[in-house]
Order: sequence, then C-alpha cells, then structure tokens
Amino acid sequence: MTDAPFIPYGRQDIRDEDVSAVDAVLRSDFLTQGPAIAAFEAALTNACEAPHAIAVSSATAALHIACMALGLGPGDHLWTSPISFVASANCGLYCGASVDFVDIDPATALMDVDDLERRLITAKAEGRLPKVLVPVHFAGHSCDMARIGVLAKEYGFRVVEDASHCIGGHHDGQPIGSCAHSDICVFSFHPVKIVTSGEGGAALTRNPELAARMNDLRTHGITREASRYQQADDGPWYYEQQALGYNYRITDIQAALGTSQMTRLSEIITARHSIAARYDQLLAELPLRWLERGPFGASGLHLYVVLLDDAAARRPVFDAMRADNIGVNVHYIPIHLQPFYRQMGFAPGRFPAAEDYYSRAISIPMFPGLTDGMQDRVVQSLARALGTAG
Ligand SMILES: *Cc1c(COP(=O)(O)O)cnc(C)c1O
Repeated sequence: MTDAPFIPYGRQDIRDEDVSAVDAVLRSDFLTQGPAIAAFEAALTNACEAPHAIAVSSATAALHIACMALGLGPGDHLWTSPISFVASANCGLYCGASVDFVDIDPATALMDVDDLERRLITAKAEGRLPKVLVPVHFAGHSCDMARIGVLAKEYGFRVVEDASHCIGGHHDGQPIGSCAHSDICVFSFHPVKIVTSGEGGAALTRNPELAARMNDLRTHGITREASRYQQADDGPWYYEQQALGYNYRITDIQAALGTSQMTRLSEIITARHSIAARYDQLLAELPLRWLERGPFGASGLHLYVVLLDDAAARRPVFDAMRADNIGVNVHYIPIHLQPFYRQMGFAPGRFPAAEDYYSRAISIPMFPGLTDGMQDRVVQSLARALGTAG
C-alpha cells in the first residue's frame, strides 16, 4: 500500500468560470426549460458543424430517442460493438428490437468494418439485415465512418454514432458530430467524459425531421408547434401529444456547465493529446501495446488503454496499480458476456477479437489535470507491476 494520493482514470476539469456560469443560472428565472439549453445546443452545433442538436439528460436517453426517431421497433435488429458501455446496445432493446454485435479490429478496438461487411452479406441472404448500426468511437478514436456510410447506403441501414468518448475528435478532418456519414451522432457529458454537464447527453443530426421527432420525444412526445398540429388548436394553452415520449430533459443548470466547458474544448483536446504523446514515449519499452489512434481522424482521446502482451499479467498488474493508488479501470467487459445478454443466447467465443482485447486491457489515467509527476507515478507503477522496473 501507499500513502500517495489517488489518481483516478478520468476526472472533470472544473474552473471558476464554470462555477460562475452555474451560479448565474441558479439566480435566474429558469432552472429547466430556459434559455441555457438553447445556448448549449448552439455551442454543440457550432463546434460540431451540424445544424441540429437536441440536449437531453444523458447519452443513454439520446441513444434511446435516436433509435425511436429512426423507427426502430419489434422485429428490427440493431448492431453495435461488443467493446462499449452497455448503453450502446440497450437502446435497441428499449425499442423492442433485437441486438447483435460486430467484432472489433484488434489494432484499434473499433468496429471491424471487414467483419461488418461479412455479417451484412450473410444477414442479407438470411433476410435479417440491421435497421440501425451503432458504431462506437471507442476511446475517442473515430471509426471508419466513410466506409460505414457506403455500406449503410448499399444495405439500407441507418447509422447512430455513439460518440460518448469523442466530442472534439475528427473524422477525415470534419468534426465528429457533423453527421457526414451518419443519421445521428450522440455525445455523453458524464463527468469522466471529455466535457461535462454533470449528467447529460445530446443527439446531433443534419435531418430536420429527425431533429423535430427527437425534440418531441425528449418531452413526452409533446409538440407546441402549431404547424404540426393534427387537431384544431383550442387556444393559446394548446399542445399536442403525438407520440409516446419521455422526460429526458436536461436542466439549465447542467446546460450552463456544459456551455462553459465547451468554450475550452480545443484546449482540453490538446491537453489530452500531449498526455497521450508522453505516455507513448514513457511506455515504449514495456511489454505492452496501446491502441492505434487516428487512422480515420484525430482522436478525442477520452481513454488511454494499454494492452498487455501477457494476458495472464492483467489481473496482478491491475491489482498492483490499485494498491499504488492508481485508479486503473477496464473498458469494457464485452457486452455480450453480461448475464443479461448471455440469457439471450450470446456465449463466449462469439466475438473472439473483443474477448482477446478484454483479457489484456487496462485503462490508465487520462484527463487534462494529470501532471507530469502523476503520469510518472502511473508509468513507474505499471513498470514495477510488469516486473520490468529499472
Ligand atoms: C458513458 C457512455 C454512454 C452512456 O452515457 P451516459 O451519459 O452516462 O448515459 C454510452 N456509450 C458510451 C460508449 C459511453 O462511454
């Protein structure tokens, strides 16, 4: 054990200006459904170069209303990556669809588009093509969206990017969130993510109809737009519920924090990139590799994952680093191995690259406040745990 302070794997970066922005909302007329939400949405559409943003209570909520807006329902199929947070798959189940997975590319831990294409060919022959594909920009590294976009047209499925790790990242020089090759792109603003609103999420799109549908679904399926009414307008109080939606609203308090954080987005991404570059140098001699980042665009760098050459060392290395007060973590347990998914028939061996990745992976601390001194402690702990400390 050690007396050294705990270093988490991710941590929010809160400045005085963030506190002032929240304070101003608390003293204003609106704690929710006020102007701070539109301001946050404008910050998102500006940064991401997409015309529409719907801010909601979480990325999980955003994934749900994205799938609903695309008409996903019983009898349909949603495919995603097994190396993601469970929310990437659960959104399909919320809609009554069935869920399946595409294996990952071991070099990047991103959805393997060759495997996707093989599975699409088989699914087409068997008449069970997916309606929605959820590629996950794991660790902040963009998937091969251009190729996914081509396959989407060829096989007729819709694309919802799970960009929970990737605000501030790029694909082919365009900001993630611009939806150049997708229908909808979803972000998370949980505190460990790149920018935070406490809890929160957003769905971005270029499609005004999808935007209007998601806007309604965020508040119970209610619209207040007279031009869209299906019945006669009874008076100024009138509104219509036209679909079954939810209360997935974000508060103005959260939105103000998010907007304030968005002003520092490029600063935050730059800090993450310099931390990653330093890790690359410090880790070069150790018996491990790290994920290839950026074959398809500059990463948002939410996570820095190392993959140990020796999978048998993963547990002792993890335990030793935790004993050194380093908040290492594992992202992620393959979704198909969760008991809830196993009961649907998924079993070990179905997605071998994902399972091999999982056996070796450790996420080491990555956040803008990580100092060189902290980073040195992380690397020394990791080297010692691997038995290669000099
Ligand atoms: C964090 C995360 C989510 C869920 O985000 P919430 O805002 O907590 O709902 C979904 N997908 C991925 C890949 C995530 O990392």
